[in-house]
Amino acid sequence: MFLRRTSMRRTAAPLIFLWVVINPKLKKTSKRTACFYEGCLSVDGYRAVVERHLDVEVSGLDRNGRPMKVEASGWQARILQHECDHLEGTLYVDKMVPRTFRTVDNLNLPLATGCPPLGAC
Ligand SMILES: [Zn+2]
Repeated sequence: MFLRRTSMRRTAAPLIFLWVVINPKLKKTSKRTACFYEGCLSVDGYRAVVERHLDVEVSGLDRNGRPMKVEASGWQARILQHECDHLEGTLYVDKMVPRTFRTVDNLNLPLATGCPPLGAC
């Protein structure tokens, strides 16, 4: 699993750090969840709403084989869950709210009646 962490400075281009996590183990660290659109290059051109935990911790080994741990919230936590799902053969379409599945061209259309609203649940 490769992760990028960016840091923005006011006047410079973003700094990008590459994280390598070998054999990642994901743990949810709160009960807070949020619903938001996700996409994936494995299902290119489509998006769907997926409910994900807002706070997670991933532990594993770094590129030098040393134990490491990443605590993440929000979008970064969503990405970690998405990528860890891949390692178990799960795609976002396996967890999506089915009636929200759509092409990227239709992302601005309103959600169908009964779908959870976007944002924190
Ligand atoms: Zn993916």
